[in-house]
Amino acid sequence: MKTAQIILAIMASATLLTCNQTKEKSSDIKQETRSIFPKGKKGPVENFTGNAFNTPLVETDSVYNTVVGNVYFEPGARSNWHTHPAGQILIITDGVGYHQIEGKPIETIKKGDVVKCPPNVRHWHGASADVGLQQLYVVPNTEKGIVNWQEPVTDEQYSANNLKK
Ligand code: MN
Repeated sequence: MKTAQIILAIMASATLLTCNQTKEKSSDIKQETRSIFPKGKKGPVENFTGNAFNTPLVETDSVYNTVVGNVYFEPGARSNWHTHPAGQILIITDGVGYHQIEGKPIETIKKGDVVKCPPNVRHWHGASADVGLQQLYVVPNTEKGIVNWQEPVTDEQYSANNLKK
């Protein structure tokens, strides 16, 4: 009986140890995302914090007046504040990220989500701190303009989401 209890105790502590190790590991690892498109070119530091990569897929023309492309945000990376004169549609194909319209709470966005950014509304979007984000963007009616870049999203603004939890 005593031996059985000792064995159980050893098994329990071994399980606890394994759980702790797994927890430590998962918080250290920045998760990778998968894209069906090439990684693309790094976005300029004037417009992005961290590493964001853009792959243009459809260039605008007088028939479609639409721009389509893919952006991969590394964990922690995000756009500056900006507006789209004709709005923008985001389709998230992998990962986890944030989207915020100025004055509203930060929304978590993830694989499968579709987000509309209304015309001329200040907003930003990017990856979560631990997981990257793959987003397809669609900008319609480009004759009105595509994007007006503004100031960076500060670390305080970016982490406001985590402080609430
Ligand atoms: Mn946008």
